[in-house]
Amino acid sequence: MLHFETSPLKIVRASRQYLYDESGNEYLDCITNASHVGHCHPHVVTAGQEQMARLVTSTGFLNDQMSEYAKRLISTMPESLSVCFFLNSGSEANDLAIRLARAYTKHEDVVCLDSAYHGNLGSLIEISPSRFKKLGSSHIKKDWVHIAPTPYLYRGKYREDASNPGLLYANEVLTVIKKAKSSGREIAAFICEPLMSAGGIIIYPQNYLQHTYRYVREMGGVCIADEVQSAFGRTGEHTWAFQTQDVIPDIVTVGKPIGNGYPFSAVITTKEIADCIGEFSTTFGGNPVACAVGMAVLDVIENEKLMASARSVGKCLLDGFRSIMPSHPMMGEVRGMGLMVGVELVIDKESRKPASEAAEILAYRMKENKIIIAYDGLEKNVMVMTPPMCFTCDNAHHVVQVFDQLLQEIENEAATTGLAASSVGNPSTSGVGPLHRMISNARFNASDDDSDDNVTSKCAKYEGVD
Ligand code: PMP
Repeated sequence: MLHFETSPLKIVRASRQYLYDESGNEYLDCITNASHVGHCHPHVVTAGQEQMARLVTSTGFLNDQMSEYAKRLISTMPESLSVCFFLNSGSEANDLAIRLARAYTKHEDVVCLDSAYHGNLGSLIEISPSRFKKLGSSHIKKDWVHIAPTPYLYRGKYREDASNPGLLYANEVLTVIKKAKSSGREIAAFICEPLMSAGGIIIYPQNYLQHTYRYVREMGGVCIADEVQSAFGRTGEHTWAFQTQDVIPDIVTVGKPIGNGYPFSAVITTKEIADCIGEFSTTFGGNPVACAVGMAVLDVIENEKLMASARSVGKCLLDGFRSIMPSHPMMGEVRGMGLMVGVELVIDKESRKPASEAAEILAYRMKENKIIIAYDGLEKNVMVMTPPMCFTCDNAHHVVQVFDQLLQEIENEAATTGLAASSVGNPSTSGVGPLHRMISNARFNASDDDSDDNVTSKCAKYEGVD
């Protein structure tokens, strides 16, 4: 997959929160959370270069870098989480987490959330409904997979007006587990992100994970927190996002930011669970370069006080977006924590129907204005920002100001000619190509019945085009 498929960028260099294309254009990067402490941070680069000149891989030998890094990583965790496994990607970490859960519980099944993404390995696509739903009837859900509704207060099953939505959504997980048990299945694990990123920055209602973890453990399973996107202070409140829900998982997986872009990941778990693995080996996981880089990342987070910065800059972003919300009929909800921020675009605030086209057009136009922003969520209608942690309040003000102006234009075009017309036949101003024209044409062809329902369903047919 490419960002901006119809006019992709070739990025040739990057520094801090900026990307540079081959013509030297500078883009403000609001999406690369893997470059956690800033692109090509000199402290991280030097640590990696120096270690690379000394020793790269040495698995099977004693390795000071690995044990020192493991100790430092574990010192940030609750006491029970005291054993680390090192790997090379978030997907590998989640796959090992499932293997550990199965070895420990002697059960096979996994409960996941219906907007989840947990990685690209075969095992993980099966527990990533956000991906396998796109395969349509060519994908058959595996018997060992059980899906619970995402605790999504804005457009989910229970909304912000429900009383105790955290418990209601947790009860959904319990129901799913009971149903599985009644057909003879046993649960090894419940896996979710403590704050959902790919689903469109979804902050769970209070106590959701507390109730859910209790149910899962009562039913014989363990709880896996996928912190591949949310770790290392990104929420601005705590080092780990699970702490924002006041729970302690049995297994935590970490990826992306751990190596600031260098392939590195980890699974952290209890001694009891780790001891069940039998044999484990990896050629590159935890190699000395990865550990030196990981150590340097932790140094920078501390030295530059990046968690506190994520809190204050995140507030600038959230406050900025909330201040422009009343003048934008399409801004349905602004939500986030620290430097994980989402703005959900809707056709109108009453129906809350997703404005997926507007989100895509807005992302392309932001790119023309040299700001890189994602649009994500199941309906691809949430503008998502997870920038490097060196992002500043000035950056936040700039993003909000450009967003305000461009969304206004899209809303005006939608009001005068219909949303589809804002992209159709006008690629020079929208900067978008065939995909938009196809979506738009489909909408125009459907204009004999242009009720909202009809338009939405016609549109939905084309959402899988990417
Ligand atoms: N879990 C989550 C929540 C992710 O967002 C991702 C990657 N986007 C993964 C797992 C997989 O990580 P990787 O791409 O490093 O394998």
